[in-house]
Amino acid sequence: MSDDKKLKPETIATHAGRMSDTHFGAVNTPVYRASTILYRDLASLEAGNTAYRYGRLGTPSSSSFEDAANELEGGARTIVAPSGLGAIALAIQAVCGAGDHLLMVDSCYHPTRLLCDRTLKRFGIETTYYDPLIGAGIEKLMKLNTRAVFCESPGSLTFEVQDVPAIAAVAHKHGASVLLDNTWATPVYFNAFDHGVDLSIQAATKYVGGHADVMIGYVAANESHRERLESAHHDLGLYASGDDCYLALRGLRTMPVRLVRHQESGLKLAHWLAKHPAVERVLHPALETDPGHALWKRDFKGATGLFGVVMKDTPHSRFAAFMDSLKLFGMGYSWGGYESLIVPSKIHRSAAPFDAKGRVVRIHAGLEDADDLIADLDQALAKLA
Ligand SMILES: *Cc1c(COP(=O)(O)O)cnc(C)c1O
Repeated sequence: MSDDKKLKPETIATHAGRMSDTHFGAVNTPVYRASTILYRDLASLEAGNTAYRYGRLGTPSSSSFEDAANELEGGARTIVAPSGLGAIALAIQAVCGAGDHLLMVDSCYHPTRLLCDRTLKRFGIETTYYDPLIGAGIEKLMKLNTRAVFCESPGSLTFEVQDVPAIAAVAHKHGASVLLDNTWATPVYFNAFDHGVDLSIQAATKYVGGHADVMIGYVAANESHRERLESAHHDLGLYASGDDCYLALRGLRTMPVRLVRHQESGLKLAHWLAKHPAVERVLHPALETDPGHALWKRDFKGATGLFGVVMKDTPHSRFAAFMDSLKLFGMGYSWGGYESLIVPSKIHRSAAPFDAKGRVVRIHAGLEDADDLIADLDQALAKLA
């Protein structure tokens, strides 16, 4: 569906990846459970060019999801992974090997940092963390063996916006690949390939799935990175089940319309919280007062429902009373589902310290009524007074 490039995300999400003609007219591709795929005859087995060859390598369930995600991303090829972290590991292994140097943003998702510091290190990949606000200044960190620059914008927990195009220009000048964890914005609000990214990573567990019931991820590649992604995926044996691909694709169909509501409620909560006496500051790039606002406005088409709040310093018991008094905000990891969430943020930095005296919490604005959510925050924050 290459002529669909000009279509808007809502239209792509509705139509992409459908194979109704091969499924008796059913709108959705059914769940395929398959390990063995039978060949018609010896000739087709020997040619090895049938659409499907072995369950691990893909089924109509995975390709429907991959094709839809790929059209939304505007990539050359998208490959599903068993989780968002699995997608991150796949993308890095597609471009880096022993003796290579990786530049990793200091505000990365914490398990990404553990991947670098433990497993990648053991395989001879050296990581240097860089200030998320470095922009073109990344030049001074480039080494002869720098193979990849990894971005995440806005950063996990701290929400700093990165100048991805400036970083990409420098990386490409030095022959390095640009990887982006684009989970916050999704391809609907940030087009990775238009901003110089080579491998765009999505923890589809979050907004794509959208219902807190599936662990899944994907990596989208541009043409120059397609083969590297395909061979790394093949060799690592990564697989996502037909059921999980089905759920992810079902979520993707409604993601653009859900994001409108997440954005609206997130902003409403952020504005309200910014004025609350218990709050030091709100970390949300769509707020005009946010240090990342100008870059966000330049590069992003919208904001989703996840943001941070720096609280004024309070004793732990009062903080606990606030958290435990919330009725509509669940306390739990992950985000991007239909339900509102809150968690305390544990910030790990090594290159550029993050300045916050009080506790930082992360809020996900779900699809509830925003005024109900504000009323809940209001009664709980009263416990801090
Ligand atoms: C949750 C998350 C991931 C990891 O996704 P999983 O599916 O939980 O493995 C990666 N990046 C970011 C920014 C995330 O929030």
